[in-house]
Amino acid sequence: MPTFVYMTRCDGCGHCVDICPSDIMHIDPTYRRAINIEPNMCWECYACVKACPQNAIDCRGYSDFAPMGHSVRVLREEEKATISWKLIFRDGREKNFVSPIRTTPWGSIKSASDYAPPTKEAMNSQELAHEPDGLNIDKLPALTPDQLKLGVV
Ligand code: SF4
Ligand code: SF4
Repeated sequence: MPTFVYMTRCDGCGHCVDICPSDIMHIDPTYRRAINIEPNMCWECYACVKACPQNAIDCRGYSDFAPMGHSVRVLREEEKATISWKLIFRDGREKNFVSPIRTTPWGSIKSASDYAPPTKEAMNSQELAHEPDGLNIDKLPALTPDQLKLGVV
């Protein structure tokens, strides 16, 4: 479900532009409002939906799984730390979901530049940065050679 912006709600703050991992949220230079410039490239991560203080970003369903069409309205309530999704189908059915916006306080996550740069050994390792510590485990799960089989038995 790629996102789109209600321009009458948007105030052009740019939070969605800053947070979009696909770099497709832009501020229209004429209207000074946000616009998803390439919905086909939307990751559907909804980071922009959750970050928008004006509840100006909604999603549209693809016809394959929403053949009846529907509207999706999103309500972000920062004081409650929740985000609510209201789906209304064309036949009047309604579904409501409420989820935490996030599990850590706003602004509490360190950015990549707050961490020490990786060592040469880390750069040559198979592990990603901050693995396994960042996953709160001692070591990554892996198959041992005796667990591997060649071909189909
Ligand atoms: Fe960008 Fe994610 Fe919003 Fe799509 S849902 S526009 S990828 S932030
Ligand atoms: Fe507009 Fe919301 Fe994006 Fe701010 S975060 S620019 S209000 S759509």
